[in-house]
Amino acid sequence: METIGHWVDGRPVDGTSGRTGPVFDPALGRQVAAVSLASAGEIDDVVKVAIDAGADWAEASLSKRASVMFRFRELIDSHRHQLAEAVSHQHGKVVSDALGEVARGLECVEFACGLPELLKGSFSPQVSTGVDVHTVLEPVGVVAGITPFNFPVMVPLWMLANALACGNAFVLKPSEKDPGPSLVLADLAHRAGLPDGVFNVVQGDSEAVNALLSHPGIDAVSFVGSTPVARHVFETGTRNGKRVQALGGAKNHMVVLPDADIDVAADAAVSAGYGSAGERCMAISVVVAVGDVADGLVEAIGARIADVVVGPGDDPASMMGPLITREHRDRVRAYVEGAPGEGARVVVDGTTLDRGEGFYLGCSLLDGVSPGMKVYDDEIFGPVLGVVRVGTFAEAVQLVNANPYGNGVAVFTRDGGAARQFQRSVKVGMVGVNVPIPVPVASHSFGGWKDSIFGDSPIYGPEGIHFYTRPKVVTSRWPEAPGRLDLGFPSGH
Ligand code: NAD
Repeated sequence: METIGHWVDGRPVDGTSGRTGPVFDPALGRQVAAVSLASAGEIDDVVKVAIDAGADWAEASLSKRASVMFRFRELIDSHRHQLAEAVSHQHGKVVSDALGEVARGLECVEFACGLPELLKGSFSPQVSTGVDVHTVLEPVGVVAGITPFNFPVMVPLWMLANALACGNAFVLKPSEKDPGPSLVLADLAHRAGLPDGVFNVVQGDSEAVNALLSHPGIDAVSFVGSTPVARHVFETGTRNGKRVQALGGAKNHMVVLPDADIDVAADAAVSAGYGSAGERCMAISVVVAVGDVADGLVEAIGARIADVVVGPGDDPASMMGPLITREHRDRVRAYVEGAPGEGARVVVDGTTLDRGEGFYLGCSLLDGVSPGMKVYDDEIFGPVLGVVRVGTFAEAVQLVNANPYGNGVAVFTRDGGAARQFQRSVKVGMVGVNVPIPVPVASHSFGGWKDSIFGDSPIYGPEGIHFYTRPKVVTSRWPEAPGRLDLGFPSGH
């Protein structure tokens, strides 16, 4: 059986720790490869390579860096299908969905291609007589990226496109559940002309993550994953003096007001709730039905579920693939099975789907869900939609704001004033108005609020440039006459 290894100093490298983990094809429900799990010693070797290579890359001209990023963009574009198939094979999502993931990652590379403009500093002439001040944006150094299983191409590109453009070296620690696509990305970056050692991939589990968090050669850490691990990464990384951005989990609400078009809202709820089998951090997991919209909406969502074709990701007829592992599938199933005992009503039961050995689960719809139930409080991360019924707009906003997560939220309405009030009232980082999955385009930045993020820096876009650079402010004077001794504090005149 194939063992998936690392990518270090411009080439594939076998692991030496002797530890491996299983990699499954979720559609077949069996192990198809093993992945090396790096030791602290292997992490140390990779970081040394990155430090050396990063020093030269930081000195590379902006035009050199931009030309590499443009070639990287072309190669990702021409390998879209290879990347999408690699994602589908180990993650399970349908290929059309994986192509969407690649497209959203590519956007981030396209944004980073504008690096000569993005890295322009600022200049203030004559701040004092004969004195000028300018700010330059320098790379941070070596950045570690730690990524989740659910977007094995897009999330690494959220990070590494800007990190490389800004002149940093990058060490990617992908999810051990679907490690394959990371090596395709590394190979494409290599073929784009990125110098060896600037972008490395090290496979591993928590041992590798903790070694990165404590390594003195790592200057900044970008993390995306679940909330408990995000909190751990943020606390450990910052304690060790690193700059850390850590994006966590979610419970995204879709509020449907009484005036909404029920068909539009039901289509959106089904697409955003069950797409990628609900394994998206921006998936809708709670529908908040306001007033008398509830009965019609529940019926319309239930009717559409019958049309969702569940099957292998590489079958063009499939709309939803399997879940990532057997354990995760069983965990999601247990939430649905436990829902009646918590007082919720199972409108559609997806646990009865029988699709052989793969890690499949059908779509489930629960009505009468409320805070305090596990199906409401926990991030289920599967194809389960819960409907919460509330009486008023104010109750809907209060529900959203009381939730500890604050990643994404959506409102469905035909009333512009209500939408505007909603957008201003909710304590959530990304808001959709009649858009169920409001993932910002790459020229903006992505980030939730509350327990969906630790640290103050959203990811990619302008905030990404900010995170991956350090400002250096230079105050200069070129005296026309000889200087004079003055022990006073500069007064600005
Ligand atoms: P995860 O937290 O289990 O794993 C993420 C990364 O952390 C992986 O690389 C993993 O190897 C590592 N890791 C896991 N346990 C660790 C530990 N105890 N110590 C150190 N490192 C550890 O997340 P996942 O299951 O791969 O991904 C799904 C989660 O990610 C969901 O909660 C989802 O909402 C979240 N997510 C968030 C965003 C966002 O932008 N906010 C985007 C995608 C996914």
